[in-house]
Amino acid sequence: MQPHPLDPHPEVRLVPVSPRVTVAYGPVTGERWQANATIVVGDRATAVVDGMMTPEQTAPVRAEAERLAGGRPVRWLLLTHADPDHVLGRVTFQGAAVVGSARSAATLRDPAVHDAYAGMAARLGGDPASFAMPEVDVAFDARATVDLGGVTLEGVSVGPGHSDSDTLWWCPEERIAWSGDQVFHGAFPLVRTNLENWFAGLDRLAAWGPRVVVPGHGPLAGPEVLDDQRRLLEALATEVGDLLRAGATVDEAVARVRLDAYRDLPMAGERLPLAVRGAAVALGYGAETA
Ligand SMILES: [Zn+2]
Repeated sequence: MQPHPLDPHPEVRLVPVSPRVTVAYGPVTGERWQANATIVVGDRATAVVDGMMTPEQTAPVRAEAERLAGGRPVRWLLLTHADPDHVLGRVTFQGAAVVGSARSAATLRDPAVHDAYAGMAARLGGDPASFAMPEVDVAFDARATVDLGGVTLEGVSVGPGHSDSDTLWWCPEERIAWSGDQVFHGAFPLVRTNLENWFAGLDRLAAWGPRVVVPGHGPLAGPEVLDDQRRLLEALATEVGDLLRAGATVDEAVARVRLDAYRDLPMAGERLPLAVRGAAVALGYGAETA
């Protein structure tokens, strides 16, 4: 396994993990590590886990998926959640069916989400006239199994945690787990309003006993990355809880939080304040303010 480039690296990078599995690292722009995608090639069908942010990003993923499968098109696109950086490259996989949780399906049907994603796609250079909102074609409430022939992918809906629609995927034959954005490896996580389900999701991932964890963002890792992410979230919850119990307002907690071990991570500048507000809501303090 190659390390993720820590320096700006504007291209998608394809990294084989095994004969059946190739990870596509999202481009790196400044501190922002864009979302990863993964090709899984079975005997009968090919799946891609996550659809990245733009058709330009997913074009090389599709090309490699087809090459690895001897020209066969991608049959399934599996979603770890419905955030735009994981779904807006869906248009590249024409003919593939999108498999996602019912929560992902609901998010993508929301007219406000449609308008936000259409605006985002236009800002990223897409043609507004041809914008096609990604949709979930095969939705599941709790669990799903996708059999590719000789290799299977099992999905479990665990949201809301990082997002409303977090879904974990597991390949037992390869012992590879996909965390979606329940793991930001090497960058500060985007914390919204729920930590309890996030911890439960990390428990689920660890219980599978993966040899490889594919994070939503950042380099491949072993199972130790699950503990690393948990420790960051626990430190956040502890510090924010201590400040609020001592009488600080949420704004004061934002100003005073230290989180010394994590505040220099990439993306911490913009995400630490959001994380404090999110943790406050998760801990039962105050309304959602961000
Ligand atoms: Zn993401």
